[in-house]
Amino acid sequence: GAVISVRKVSKRFPNGTLALKAIDFDVPEGQFVSLLGPSGCGKSTLLRIIAELTPPTGGTFRRVAHSGGAGVALGFVFQEPTLMPWASTLRNVMLPLMLAGIADRDAEPRAAAMLKSVGLEGFEKAYPRELSGGMKMRVSIARALVTKPRILLMDEPFAALDEITRHRLNDDLIALWERERFSAIFVTHSVLESVYLAQRIVMMAARPGRIVADFANAAPYPRD
Ligand code: ADP
Ligand code: ADP
Repeated sequence: GAVISVRKVSKRFPNGTLALKAIDFDVPEGQFVSLLGPSGCGKSTLLRIIAELTPPTGGTFRRVAHSGGAGVALGFVFQEPTLMPWASTLRNVMLPLMLAGIADRDAEPRAAAMLKSVGLEGFEKAYPRELSGGMKMRVSIARALVTKPRILLMDEPFAALDEITRHRLNDDLIALWERERFSAIFVTHSVLESVYLAQRIVMMAARPGRIVADFANAAPYPRD
């Protein structure tokens, strides 16, 4: 079934901007969707509504509430990795587990395993300032996935990275998704990136923010 179900959702900001108009959008379990569109078309607003960081002003939406792991249904990766600068890489990844009340002795090996799966084995004790931009983004992805959420929301996560790093991260994200099978919404304004990553591409346009095309079974990435 659908893990996210959005019905006739609209969002008008207090200043009058109609950021989203009548959005209808379902995400089936395990699907990798890309939200593609120019700046200002409401991609971030839609993602923030789904994450319950902001309420819609019209319509309804529903999403799964629980995961199998630490009771967290959803992970969020922002364009800025937003790591705690005073904490080691391992501590940064442990944070959501600790917030879920999991003891250090259980949280530590889980965080270490997650760091390994994003290619950062050996960097557990490093501090964010010692890491490259790509590595910080890897930590951010590990932190979002460590609770085994059923949904991973990503808001232009690789936009600030150079092309080669971005390409590697795209490949590694596909590998993680193939292994963990979370449902993913990946926001980007890059056509190439959306075609490369996603099984389905939902295109948006601005003024007002709306869905203008929905390509299911988008050209699949060759998985050999
Ligand atoms: P995107 O992520 O596609 O670039 P956004 O969701 O950030 O688009 O923004 C959609 C529209 O809503 C834009 O016109 C933007 O200026 C406007 N907007 C976003 N946040 C606010 C806000 N807090 N107050 C007023 N307008 C906003
Ligand atoms: P990616 O994020 O795709 O792994 P980067 O361009 O961020 O690539 O880094 C390239 C490689 O250089 C990393 O995989 C890592 O092995 C190494 N590296 C980058 N920064 C550091 C650092 N501060 N200390 C040790 N190795 C580093």
